Amino acid sequence: MKMSKLYMPTLREVPSEAELPSHQLLLRAGMIRKLVSGVYSYLPLGIRVLKKVEDIVREEMDAIDSQEVLMSAIQPAELWKESGRWDDFGPEMFRLYDRNQREFCLGPTHEEIFTDLIRHEVKSYKQLPLSLYQIQTKYRDEKRPRFGLMRAREFIMKDAYTFDIDEEGMRKSYEDMWKAYEKIFSRCGLKFKVVQGDSGAMGGSDSHEFMAMSEYGESAIAYCDSCDYAATDEKASCLYEVASTTQEKLQPEKVHTPNAKTIEDVANFFNASAESFAKTLLIKAKDEVVAVVIPGSRELNEIKLVNVLGVPEHEIMMADEETVKAVTGAEVGFAGPINLKKDIRIIVDSRVTKMNNFIVGANETDYHIKNVNYGRDFEGEVVEDLLLVREGDKCPKCGAPLKMDRGIEVGNIFQLGLKYSGALNATFLDENGKEQKIYMGSHGVGVSRTAAAVIEQCHDENGIVWPLSVAPYHVIVTIVNVKNEEQAALGEKLYNELKSSGLEVLLDDRNERAGVKFKDADLIGIPIRITVGKKANEEIVEFSLRREGEKSEISVNDIMDKIKAEFNYQGLEL
Ligand code: ATP
Ligand code: MG
Repeated sequence: MKMSKLYMPTLREVPSEAELPSHQLLLRAGMIRKLVSGVYSYLPLGIRVLKKVEDIVREEMDAIDSQEVLMSAIQPAELWKESGRWDDFGPEMFRLYDRNQREFCLGPTHEEIFTDLIRHEVKSYKQLPLSLYQIQTKYRDEKRPRFGLMRAREFIMKDAYTFDIDEEGMRKSYEDMWKAYEKIFSRCGLKFKVVQGDSGAMGGSDSHEFMAMSEYGESAIAYCDSCDYAATDEKASCLYEVASTTQEKLQPEKVHTPNAKTIEDVANFFNASAESFAKTLLIKAKDEVVAVVIPGSRELNEIKLVNVLGVPEHEIMMADEETVKAVTGAEVGFAGPINLKKDIRIIVDSRVTKMNNFIVGANETDYHIKNVNYGRDFEGEVVEDLLLVREGDKCPKCGAPLKMDRGIEVGNIFQLGLKYSGALNATFLDENGKEQKIYMGSHGVGVSRTAAAVIEQCHDENGIVWPLSVAPYHVIVTIVNVKNEEQAALGEKLYNELKSSGLEVLLDDRNERAGVKFKDADLIGIPIRITVGKKANEEIVEFSLRREGEKSEISVNDIMDKIKAEFNYQGLEL
């Protein structure tokens, strides 16, 4: 492509709305433009990158015999009602009506639609296993669309669905996907970790997330260096032990604690550490209010609570002031599990049951109770692990200290088991002619998010540094002075020759200052750069790599060897 014709509206200034490097650079390099919040248009360079990622995904899906299909983005509400997710998905779902008032949504994911296809088509065990995928636009009305392509409301996903006759088959399909995903993200040039994920909302048993490591990642990961344990913070657990319980149980005592509302205030008042408290959080969960009691020094993991209560995530929120007053009979800050005014469920973190003589709110303004003991003074309806892990907690597998890091979730694999085949009645006849439910799996890659994640990992202060595998073009040939006939002729000649060798080439033939051209080449991040300048008459050009920056003068005869060497270095063949 000649850059004199290329539609590449680069920006010199960093757009103020963009916080993340990938968001800034995608805009600045003229690859995307915002239509409305979380909805983007892909311009010529942007769509080329997207297609590169798609092609890698396609090749790796095809390699494990997953077959490409394309389903509709518009989906009838009835299917979602059948699975029970019409309400569960909540405000994240874009909903619409047709002219006859029939209700639809724009697909945020496609479990229901694929299950529906299969229940009508698959009859016998002979048609299984089956693995189908699509690369398609998804719609989610995200609460906080941000970071450009990272968290968009319209985005491109590869979603695959696997159908097996039994659990063993489902696990095999899961492993195949796992391996394919490792190849996909390696080929995209990403540094990533595979971590255990929470499968609560999707249903089913096992789930893993593929995390591209990045300080700006929205996902927190807990991992262990001494063993292979790694999980999202939503899923992670730890060996959190509370202090010894040998102490004698003392009698509870109400203590006047004027104005001590926060854990800190109360700790100061009692001259005790946060470890000696259990805090009681009042939480609205769908139609009820629950009291959640956790150690005073720790934070609640909302996802664990969501799973315990079995309500959708968007239906969980802290109770408002009025509700707190009604439930406790006190001002905010004095809630506790004893003597609540209203008979609500009490959910307790398992560590609290082992604490001894601890302090809780008294459900009375300006009062706390000390020497409280679980079992004797109050009981929970549910006792579970409800804590968010933190750096230094003990690994649940080997006891070594856990570390925390951040990542961008670029892929997710799920074992769904019988959740959707059960709800939608997708069955087959086994070898004995007996009707059985199909074991399913669901496996997503955020295609557009992956492109952004590559930029997060591959950029410097001057712009993007694309790996060859997903770069919009492999090579950029820059003619320093287009008015110089020898330079222009050599540039054009190299451009044509490199193209006919199968390379994707940009020719910077614009009548611009050299400085502007070099800045643009840095910004858009083309991996291999050839500069045709003063020595054009001697057939000598400058060769450099975007990832290194060092320039060397070489004869045009050596260009192909240099390019091949770089392809090989990046694990690619030319
Ligand atoms: P997240 O936790 O980031 O909201 P998710 O777990 O809801 O993502 P999945 O339902 O697992 O996402 O979707 C599969 C993949 O699609 C994700 O791994 C991610 O890469 C991508 N994805 C999900 N939501 C978005 C979004 N709003 N914008 C861009 N990509 C997304
Ligand atoms: Mg996910």
